[in-house]
Amino acid sequence: MSRDPFDLIWRVADSPQPTFSRDDVVALHGDKVERLTKLGVLREGKTVRHVPCDACADSHTEAVATIKYPDGNTRFFINCPGQGRVEVERHRLIRWSVDFEPILSALASALSVRVAPTEVVPTRVWNLGRASLVGKSRTVWVARGLTWPDADQIAGALPKGRSPVLFYLGQAANDGFLDIPREAIIELRTVVRCDDELVIDRDAVESQLAEIADAPVKKRSSKRAQRDATVGKLKRELHQRIISFKSAVRHADDGDSTFTLPHLTQKELAEAIEANESTVSRAINESGDRELAILLQTVADEDLIRRYGR
Ligand SMILES: [Zn+2]
Repeated sequence: MSRDPFDLIWRVADSPQPTFSRDDVVALHGDKVERLTKLGVLREGKTVRHVPCDACADSHTEAVATIKYPDGNTRFFINCPGQGRVEVERHRLIRWSVDFEPILSALASALSVRVAPTEVVPTRVWNLGRASLVGKSRTVWVARGLTWPDADQIAGALPKGRSPVLFYLGQAANDGFLDIPREAIIELRTVVRCDDELVIDRDAVESQLAEIADAPVKKRSSKRAQRDATVGKLKRELHQRIISFKSAVRHADDGDSTFTLPHLTQKELAEAIEANESTVSRAINESGDRELAILLQTVADEDLIRRYGR
């Protein structure tokens, strides 16, 4: 399992109600909950009226009855068909909710944006203001739910053209859905790391944006430029492969058959993008590109392929 405490956050980022039950939170190991709450990303929220029964092996969810005792105590119960009345501990009723604001603030400060994030569409679209990136002033935006049924409205709230940079949470929009160059649309997850505090990989952001700047023939330091170009090709190749594996995996899931994920070697990747194996190996090992690392991890893991969303 991933040791990244943020896994939990990314998993619900695409959910309209990014909340967890106490049981989900308890399932987190080690000090993850403490770290996430300390960062303000995870908060104790409202209480729920239904909980899953934990007294029997049948998975069923029941309404919670609240009983106030004369001594002033309040206790909670559900009715289990097998076990009868089952007491529910108070902490199991608490929902935990995710607050993206600390991540947005960390992003704004890493990109030296001076104004605080403005929520343009509640919990969906934020305008972070202007930042100077790769020698150009750009507006920085964050959006969530780009594939939800109302995504058209969200797209309408977002800027267009070559200057904005958009970070997204959850699934990526379909190609061509947004009028922003693909290189300026960055999955937020790929540039955030959670140490004791939230760390944003500004270099990764700039290196991806540099691909737009590269479009016309423009000489940059040749070694770096070559490596960046290889990274770009590798990402596109991996994206294509993951998409085709995803359809094979889905097909197998639907037909109850098995799909054996082929092992992808650096040699094959090199052949696919018509580069030397050493160039590919250098790009993978030395670029430090997180999106590339995530794509490589994904292409080798059936579950990650199933969840791949772009
Ligand atoms: Zn039960």
